[in-house]
Amino acid sequence: MAKKILVLPGDGIGPEIVAEAVKVLGALTGPDWPEPVVDEALIGGAAIDAAGGPLPEETLERARAADAILLGAVGGPRWDDVETARRPEKGLLGLRAGLGLFANLRPAILYPQLADASTLKSPVVNGLDILIVRELTGGIYFGEPRGMRTRDDGEREAFNTLVYGESEIERIARVAMQAARGRRRRVCSVDKANVLEATAFWREVVTRVGQEFPDVELSHMYVDNAAMQLVKDPKQFDVLVTTNMFGDILSDQAAMLTGSIGMLPSASLNTRGQGLYEPIHGSAPDIAGQGVANPLATILSLAMMLRHSLGAPALADRIESAVGAVLEQGLRTADIVSPGTQKVGTAEMGDAVAAAL
Ligand code: NAD
Repeated sequence: MAKKILVLPGDGIGPEIVAEAVKVLGALTGPDWPEPVVDEALIGGAAIDAAGGPLPEETLERARAADAILLGAVGGPRWDDVETARRPEKGLLGLRAGLGLFANLRPAILYPQLADASTLKSPVVNGLDILIVRELTGGIYFGEPRGMRTRDDGEREAFNTLVYGESEIERIARVAMQAARGRRRRVCSVDKANVLEATAFWREVVTRVGQEFPDVELSHMYVDNAAMQLVKDPKQFDVLVTTNMFGDILSDQAAMLTGSIGMLPSASLNTRGQGLYEPIHGSAPDIAGQGVANPLATILSLAMMLRHSLGAPALADRIESAVGAVLEQGLRTADIVSPGTQKVGTAEMGDAVAAAL
């Protein structure tokens, strides 16, 4: 049966970059590839303008019915004064919560052609290929109780709760182990087990789940050491799995090892294999509408969708190879251009990837 893809262009450069990914999707052919049904809906600021809120009920319903969702980005200065509960970003949070997207996968890959883009020395990062698996719906960002109160002595205080249920840890550990099986079969679990009971429990449960995967090498590291090792010798890692907050921080750090925000995709998955696929960057209002944004992160998000939600890993490989080929041809959008390469716009980059397929 044909798979259903819901496309959510969103705001700023969102519609421009998503259009290129849809172009690449349309260029895919293959004997085992029943063409998917592609539908489009509103989210973020565009939805506030047209429907009065950042995540219309209709969008959420269509997202629930889809096999996978491709999102551009949301937000921009136009909606900066909107009240917090109705801001464009709330649309994205609502979608994650509404679909139960608990596993966030963020690869940090440095293409050899872009080795100079990193601020780190080339031998440290050249050939970098790591995957951060972040728990996305639990931990301290969601734990209860939370809030502010005034103590008996009149001192005000604020508090959050770091709490993880055993099943929450088990399922994210399994995602990491399974992902490692398709890679170099090594998982490093990051915690602060020496200080935080919740993450000592995290380590205990991950260790137990690890025993189900004897072919995957499991190690553990404290988060402060992991932060150091990521800049000292990032290539020692294959898959990193960690809690919501540690993953939030470490995945941005890992992204910056590559130096090019316009190149990095992400996936957020639920227990049914449904996924939300999006570039890690935002809506880039400073360059929106100019046709200069880099569409490669969105095109690589499409590749992740084919691999993780649409059961077409060979087509995912083809897209990733096509992106490599286009970089090899010397084509670059403005954010990654360097002397001796050829500057192209958003649509030309999409055309080149489609042609390279
Ligand atoms: P941003 O990622 O949008 O932009 C940061 C810088 O990177 C800008 O200079 C931008 O031009 C550049 N950039 C980003 N993507 C690019 C691309 N594909 N090609 C070329 N250059 C690119 O971050 P920001 O400026 O902090 O945020 C802008 C808006 O995006 C805000 O409203 C923010 O809330 C929103 N945002 C949304 C998401 C999301 O939808 N997931 C994520 C982050 C920020």
